[in-house]
Amino acid sequence: MSDVLGNPVIPPDASDSLAVLEKSRATAETFGIPLAVLLEITHRCPLQCPYCSNPVELDRSGKELTTDEWKKVLSELAEIGVLQVHFSGGEPTARKDLVELVKHASDVGLYTNLITSAVLLTREKLGELADAGLCHVQISFQGIEESLADRVAGYKGGHRKKLEVAKWTRELDLPLTVNAVMHRQNLHQLPDIIQMSVDLDADRLEVANVQYYGWALKNRAALMPTVAQLDECTEIVEAARERLKGRLTIDYVVPDYYALRPKKCMGGWGRQFFNISPAGKVLPCHAAESITGLDFESVRSNHSIAWIWQNSEAFNRYRGTGWMKEPCKSCEFREIDFGGCRCQAFALTGDAANTDPACALSPLHETIFKQAEAEAEGETNRFLYRNFAGGTLESENGA
Ligand code: SF4
Ligand code: SF4
Repeated sequence: MSDVLGNPVIPPDASDSLAVLEKSRATAETFGIPLAVLLEITHRCPLQCPYCSNPVELDRSGKELTTDEWKKVLSELAEIGVLQVHFSGGEPTARKDLVELVKHASDVGLYTNLITSAVLLTREKLGELADAGLCHVQISFQGIEESLADRVAGYKGGHRKKLEVAKWTRELDLPLTVNAVMHRQNLHQLPDIIQMSVDLDADRLEVANVQYYGWALKNRAALMPTVAQLDECTEIVEAARERLKGRLTIDYVVPDYYALRPKKCMGGWGRQFFNISPAGKVLPCHAAESITGLDFESVRSNHSIAWIWQNSEAFNRYRGTGWMKEPCKSCEFREIDFGGCRCQAFALTGDAANTDPACALSPLHETIFKQAEAEAEGETNRFLYRNFAGGTLESENGA
């Protein structure tokens, strides 16, 4: 089967209502361009977080899109109806042209968000970004206590700098989101992280429990929380949401290993989201390159971004539900969670078309859940730090 441009499309299953839509209209008409796009403008980063969502095979600086190529991407995104871009990485401020890119995004009418570890920013640079039209800043924190936060990041002095940059952000009247990635070794600091977000006058706090693929999967034994820790975390978040209503919005992402059903990853493959990698690959999620055997088109190809989103083989491979195997294929939840996460299914089962093992209906769920529980109770605390060398194991004394 092929679409109007002669490109292969996975045959839809007639029992699937979304697939029926796909049959009656071109894919191009079925999936609108997402309103927000994540731009991973570099994989370079001075930090080495053991749960980093970048791929284990990082793009080296020589492969990165040039300033002009990113500007062309920004113009094209604005033209096709994207309203918002997130400048992310790696560490986006590692690129010397960030102010120029933010200015260009702003000139073509895009709302801009900077997702940063903050450690490379100066007061002057943040001011330049604000003058260039930056609309929002999101700073990641690794904990509340300096020694632990710097140890998790593998970067001395980072925590103190983040606090400073958060203050500058608010002084410049930019809205601030605190992003706190939580795991077994820092979950006990959650109440203080919530208070820190209030003290920093943040608008929003993202309590994001680690998702286990890529670097985090390599570090699962050092990061996996216990069930008791997670239950406590949920109670703390619920109480804080109530207490801080109207003052701080708290988003909460749970690790799906301990859930009965998986998360609706990316809102479903190729339905609501894409990101662009440092080398210009257009991806259905930031971890998608971990699935081997899929070819992702680049903005450097002859295709437009809209064409890649609508027609490329990689985006259509797991769109809708027609590709599913059992138990997803006949499951009543298949259009609610779309079978969970393709990257997690690939990482844990070797086939991205399998049911995500986070689902209790997956034949592998129990084995994986028991492994995770055992790791959570285990003694392994040493991190494998994220870097271009494929990772460095933390020394025994935590240095
Ligand atoms: S998760 Fe940590 S190492 Fe990865 S890009 Fe963000 S700050 Fe850098
Ligand atoms: S079997 Fe598939 S569709 Fe059903 S709940 Fe599990 S992951 Fe979701």
